[in-house]
Amino acid sequence: MRVMVLGAGVIGTTSAYYLTKSGHEVEVVDRRSGPALETSFANAGGICPGFAGPWAAPGMPANILRWLFTRHAPLVLRPRLDPHQWRWLIRFLRNCSAERFARNKARMQRIAHYSKACLKELCEDTGIAFDHGTGGVLQLFRTEKEFAGAAKSTRVLAEFGVMHRVLDAKGVLAVEPALGAAAADFAGGLHLPDDETGDCHKFTVALAELLHRRGVVFKFNTSVKRLRLERGRIAGVITDRGTLHADAYIVAMGSAAVHVLRPLGLNLPIYPVKGYSVTMDVDANMAVPRSSVMDEHYKVMITRLGTRLRAAGIAELAGDDVSIRASGPATVLRSLRELFPQAALACKGGAPNAWAGLRPMTPDGPPYLGATGIANLYLNVGQGSNGWTQACGGAQVVTDIVCGRRPQIDVEGFGINR
Ligand SMILES: Cc1cc2nc3c(=O)[nH]c(=O)nc-3n(C[C@H](O)[C@H](O)[C@H](O)COP(=O)(O)OP(=O)(O)OC[C@H]3O[C@@H](n4cnc5c(N)ncnc54)[C@H](O)[C@@H]3O)c2cc1C
Repeated sequence: MRVMVLGAGVIGTTSAYYLTKSGHEVEVVDRRSGPALETSFANAGGICPGFAGPWAAPGMPANILRWLFTRHAPLVLRPRLDPHQWRWLIRFLRNCSAERFARNKARMQRIAHYSKACLKELCEDTGIAFDHGTGGVLQLFRTEKEFAGAAKSTRVLAEFGVMHRVLDAKGVLAVEPALGAAAADFAGGLHLPDDETGDCHKFTVALAELLHRRGVVFKFNTSVKRLRLERGRIAGVITDRGTLHADAYIVAMGSAAVHVLRPLGLNLPIYPVKGYSVTMDVDANMAVPRSSVMDEHYKVMITRLGTRLRAAGIAELAGDDVSIRASGPATVLRSLRELFPQAALACKGGAPNAWAGLRPMTPDGPPYLGATGIANLYLNVGQGSNGWTQACGGAQVVTDIVCGRRPQIDVEGFGINR
């Protein structure tokens, strides 16, 4: 079958990999000049099934309220005259109950752990290099109050069988000795040794190159305008370079997917939630993390990627705008300065390689994987803040659905009618 994948981010490219492996003829279409040049470009680099879970959680409404009046808050709401924004927010708040959190967390854990196993197999099959690290992730709590919240996390982690260790300040230093130079105090941490790290952009580019050699056609600089619906099927993709045809189509366009799906009557609540990162080179003598530290105070993740260090975070609800507002990198750099002052000094007062990207967030957390009700149209969208973590598993699931096979995990909760 000829399958067209719309979008060459980590989600579209991994979809192309599994589809090709299943014997399909695959074409990937993207508006950019290469793979992973939008949200998959400079994320925090965490492959973190242990942490995978919805942002909509009990306590979140109160936090949002508090953050509205806080400088350097992890979440910034820029209200717009946009019903999509308000509808999304209302649905998000409705998902903050304990019951819905537990249900959504279970769904995300299911796909994230499966994805880790799929990534392992993909790495064995392809041998691609992407600064892959297996040193775990350390969640760092600065205050006793934050640390007390860790008890709640450990209950959930135990429930899902996720290996974890609660650490006092001494234990934290044993995991990440560079925190000995921190300018901020910390009360303790939670270490998830099985979580991993890696450069999502490097991974996607290397995978796309390999797929190109395996016969996948990449059509870059090609912008999808709309999908032509005829008699309950997609009859073609209208782009700025003409109409393209295939037997089946997979939408993997991140948060931009809503613009082509809406005219088909598929009104999915996926909102672009902007985040920022900075990336710098580090040398062997610098006091920086060995693996990855999640600063709970600012919700900034600081990750070692080979000879580089990346700090990423912030959730800004401001529509499709990817402009870099100074406040975003400033908060990210503040976390870096307080935890790893040497790395911050190396930034020389600037924000090296400052970047902004839009997380394709669903209000409940899990992505949309699979059928749409339109015979030959499938979805692989809405991975939010977990797209790198969930990419391989989601792509394998969608491929199985396209092939008419039963996916290896239960797909309850990943449909459009949930
Ligand atoms: C600051 C930040 C930190 C993050 N940290 C992590 C992390 O540590 N771990 C993790 O798992 N996830 C993380 N994420 C989330 C992760 O990066 C995303 O979920 C993931 O990259 C989404 O991939 P995607 O392929 O769906 O989207 P994208 O990478 O945006 O790909 C979509 C593609 O579709 C193309 N496209 C869009 N519209 C059109 C059109 N009209 N025509 C043609 N092509 C089109 C785009 O050019 C793009 O290439 C983070 C995100 C941010 C912003």
